[in-house]
Amino acid sequence: MLNARASKALVLAWILLLSSFAFPQSNLLTAIRCGRLINPVDGSVTQNAVIIVRGDRIEQVGANLSIPGGAKVIDLSGYTVLPGLIDCHTHIMLQPEDERGAPPVVTKSQAFRTVQGVAAAKRDLEAGFTTMRDLDSEGAGFADVAVRDGINQRIIPGPRLFVSTYALTITGGHMNNAGLNPDIQIPEPATLTDSRDAMIAEIRREVKYGADWIKLYATGTLRHVDPVTLEPLSQVSLDEVKAVVAEAARWHRDVAAHAYGGDGAKNAIRGGVRSIEHGMLMDDEALKLLVEHGTFWCPTLSVYLPESAEDDTEMRRRIVAHHKEVFQKAMRLGVKICFGTDVGAFEHGTSAREFVKMVEYGMKPIEAIRSATTRAAELLRMEKQIGSIEKGKLADIIAVEGNPVDDIKALTRVTFVMKAGHVYKSPLQP
Ligand SMILES: [Zn+2]
Repeated sequence: MLNARASKALVLAWILLLSSFAFPQSNLLTAIRCGRLINPVDGSVTQNAVIIVRGDRIEQVGANLSIPGGAKVIDLSGYTVLPGLIDCHTHIMLQPEDERGAPPVVTKSQAFRTVQGVAAAKRDLEAGFTTMRDLDSEGAGFADVAVRDGINQRIIPGPRLFVSTYALTITGGHMNNAGLNPDIQIPEPATLTDSRDAMIAEIRREVKYGADWIKLYATGTLRHVDPVTLEPLSQVSLDEVKAVVAEAARWHRDVAAHAYGGDGAKNAIRGGVRSIEHGMLMDDEALKLLVEHGTFWCPTLSVYLPESAEDDTEMRRRIVAHHKEVFQKAMRLGVKICFGTDVGAFEHGTSAREFVKMVEYGMKPIEAIRSATTRAAELLRMEKQIGSIEKGKLADIIAVEGNPVDDIKALTRVTFVMKAGHVYKSPLQP
């Protein structure tokens, strides 16, 4: 057995080794010439700006800066440059086919789901998303932690991930397999936590195995919505939410609550979650609570649009109409709206379609860009590191054809992606 000092030294060496993988040291100097540069902080658009990147950080940015000798030049003068985008609600372990038929916990091995997750992460990065908050692995266990770590160690390409492993739900609630023979046991897409103590124990387990965020199902899903009143099923009491938030805080974690509206959403907001997900059935009182508590809201507008004739029901149309109304009210009230998509339920690499919907519903393009940069960084408590192209921040930089301030669809045409100083996609390379 090792003595205490030797084992401490061993642990230290191990931590140093891990951090050298996570934060590769590089002093490589790069100069990026930008046709236009969008600054979401003040909404300005600068012509012919230059960004100087050293290693993984932005060293300097401004109009007509001179390029230091020895710098590698990346000429994006034909493009619009902006900070790497942040999607605050993703599922890398979920693929569109998983939404049809039997759940993936039944039809796919975790190994196969991980392989798909690796491919999904690459597609999302190449679409300009340099950071994502991945809101549960949909039953793929801790595979999201593995993908996050593989990305951080630069074994595979992908966005900087904040993962939440399993989600907390209740028996009979959202993400509890439905319609099955009660005599058979199959894996669940989320963890059934039917008491305050079970919720606390589950948070400890998730954090132990690598969760960065805690995901709580505060309401049920579409099948639980009352077809007449559109009232969602509330899955948690105020006391339970408070217990979840307090336990997460012990581990310096925040809580994201899936909540369509009703009492479930109000309990989540009053109980102190950091963000409400979806929220399309929230009433005026819930919106006021969001403002009062400074809670962030990820509307995920586009994922609820019917995509097949089968989905295009009267109830779905009412929900979509309500979603639009809530979104417009939330904008007027000054709710902190963050960009989130639920990508995985639809094709990875196509999250920018959400921007188009936000603008169609009345958001100014620069506000939509803020929701996926400065504001999203604030939600993640990463505002000192990411969300804008400023001296000292991580060099997360993308470029698009056209100008998204005039035409938001330009964000669907990402041609250049740099994350922490490394180029993952470029129009200048074959
Ligand atoms: Zn989701």
